Amino acid sequence: PLTAGIVGLPNVGKSTLFNAITKSQVEAANYPFATIQPNVGVVEVPDARLDRLSEICQTKKTIYTTFEFTDIAGLVKGASKGEGLGNQFLSNIRLTDAICHVVRCFDDADITHVEGNVDPIRDIEIINLELIMADLQTVENRLSKIERKAMTNKDKEAMAEVAVLKKVQEALEAGKPARSVDLDKDELFLMKAFSLLTLKPMIYIANMSDMEIADPNSNPYYLKVKEFAEAENNQVVPVCAKIEEELSGLDKEEKLEFLQELGIPESGLDKVIKAAYKILDLCTYFTAGVQECRAWTFRKGMLAPQCAGIIHTDFEKGFIRAECFKYTDIDELGSEQAVKEDGKLRLEGKDYEVQDGDVLHFRFNV
Ligand code: GDP
Repeated sequence: PLTAGIVGLPNVGKSTLFNAITKSQVEAANYPFATIQPNVGVVEVPDARLDRLSEICQTKKTIYTTFEFTDIAGLVKGASKGEGLGNQFLSNIRLTDAICHVVRCFDDADITHVEGNVDPIRDIEIINLELIMADLQTVENRLSKIERKAMTNKDKEAMAEVAVLKKVQEALEAGKPARSVDLDKDELFLMKAFSLLTLKPMIYIANMSDMEIADPNSNPYYLKVKEFAEAENNQVVPVCAKIEEELSGLDKEEKLEFLQELGIPESGLDKVIKAAYKILDLCTYFTAGVQECRAWTFRKGMLAPQCAGIIHTDFEKGFIRAECFKYTDIDELGSEQAVKEDGKLRLEGKDYEVQDGDVLHFRFNV
């Protein structure tokens, strides 16, 4: 499964947020395949469409799709030079698919800041620089090996690789992340092999106090982070990690009540989950019935048999066709029967590219 790593300087609220994640962790009974390690939290992806679908189908069981977070505690200044447990943390980030970068946007004299005062932009730059330095090492190591091969053998592939590595090296040396480099499909494919940290999509999480979270724009630190992130084309999600920790102990209804009291339409954690899902280009299809309504995660561009394979490998091997309609159609028409009568039910074959929001029923040979 895809996973987003949570990074940030010490004392910014990472553990508090990660506690909220593990406390709202899914029940293993519904998700027998979720391998749950201490530094991994598996959470449900909230989806109002699935709630509505369950209501229409009067289903017995609703199962949300899931998303994984990995706690990467302890990234400090100097990590790329091996300081602290630097290299280990960096290699843990390497295994993730996206980065959630927690930034301290709260004042609290009782909680020391490792750099002496609260300054989110400086903090962001410290972490980003460590990631950039680590990537620079990776790129330079590779260049020193492949450049010789490109020169001596005039090997076309090696030459192409050198060209793209140099492009990325230039950006990194200028203090810019690899994701800021304009790469075409082939170049991106070449670079993917190195699991560069700054090539991974990233979101910022601005951790602020419970007094400000209802109106994040009242927090001047947040405004700075927002401006900074927008210039990089990145997103910022405001959260109050402390509130999230409290929310995670509540059931669904209590949670809604508490959020209303606070004047927040949606929990910060839910927003983080959705944002992480989005930057990874993940989509959702549904299976719907009286026994169970369920959401499944797939990658944009996947074909119907591959999507069937997410449920079970046998579904992919024996795939015949998919019966398919759009969530928006059943939402509008109110029942599967009405969808059929309206001619909105389609039969799709092996080459069908599944769309976000499709409701599917697979036919397969056993
Ligand atoms: P980490 O080192 O980044 O994992 O940070 P922690 O989650 O351990 O948080 C450090 C301290 O800051 C803890 O004492 C938290 O209770 C506190 N803290 C976290 N979020 C907030 C917040 O929004 N406001 C305030 N005042 N304290 C917070």
